[in-house]
Amino acid sequence: MGITSKTRKMLWGRSANRCAICRMNLVMDETETDDESVIGDECHIVAREKDGPRGDSVLTSEQRDKYTNLILLCKVHHKVIDDQSFSYSVQYLTELKEKHEEWVNKALDLDVVKQRDEEVYMTFIDKWSELCELENWKSWTSNIFFAGGYSLSIQMNDKLQEVKEYLFSRIWPERYLELNDSFENFTIILNDFFGVFHKHSERRGEYYYTERFYNVRDGDEEKYHGLLCEYNFHVDLLQDLLLELTRAVNHICDMVRRFLLPSYRINEGLLLIVSGPYKDLSMRVFRTQYKEKNRSTELYPGLDKFKEIRSTRDVCFGVGKDANDPEFLKNT
Ligand SMILES: [Zn+2]
Ligand SMILES: [Zn+2]
Repeated sequence: MGITSKTRKMLWGRSANRCAICRMNLVMDETETDDESVIGDECHIVAREKDGPRGDSVLTSEQRDKYTNLILLCKVHHKVIDDQSFSYSVQYLTELKEKHEEWVNKALDLDVVKQRDEEVYMTFIDKWSELCELENWKSWTSNIFFAGGYSLSIQMNDKLQEVKEYLFSRIWPERYLELNDSFENFTIILNDFFGVFHKHSERRGEYYYTERFYNVRDGDEEKYHGLLCEYNFHVDLLQDLLLELTRAVNHICDMVRRFLLPSYRINEGLLLIVSGPYKDLSMRVFRTQYKEKNRSTELYPGLDKFKEIRSTRDVCFGVGKDANDPEFLKNT
């Protein structure tokens, strides 16, 4: 499963973001115009692969990604230790790392309580990202955004229910309140998403589908039309809530980068969603986030308010507060 965020936090925090050999600072602060820049590497002491530097070892591949087998270095020293793997033996590197952390403790007066709080946060974040499958976000959400489908696998449904309870029952450090708020925001949206989805879900096989409740077939055209409007309103809202949830995740990742780990999900980038097929049979990819300015005041305002303000978001599928809203009817 690779190096966890908690391990990375331990490594960066306990090394004070510095190379264990030359002590160079590996995180360049953000400027007026640019984000932070990360110039260090999380290096394996025993290589990840058997045939890599110092790779001939009994360690399992999981153990190779653990904190004890990693050392933080600048790019230059990363290359040096891998090129000269006999001079830089496992034992020597382990000692270098220990000495460096000792130095950080003494000379830099490492704030131990802060570091511990941050590691607690990272434990929660690892679990959260695993349960809501950030790695497969575009894929599992595409079932909800798939025109006519609007479904969710039972497995994903259960994982999301679990993450909701998990987050709710955590004892959060009261250190980074904006980060705490970003998780609360996520939980509230997820809760409303479930509420809306399961109002019209039906279980078939491995999936929950959105019931086509307009199919009444009693020949009452007016009733049929009314229900169809309601159905369209419902699936728009469902998709808008999942978009809002995606925004919430992107916002959390921002907060994690700001407070805990500047390189968090930098390579993966923003979560995207894919929707369609549209009338021309195309699938479209969207990126979505809260607007740069006043991000924290823009968070989810609760379901009723959200229905009204969703059209001010960067992407939205529907409008109006219910299926009788003139604004909604105008658009159908
Ligand atoms: Zn260095
Ligand atoms: Zn290496």
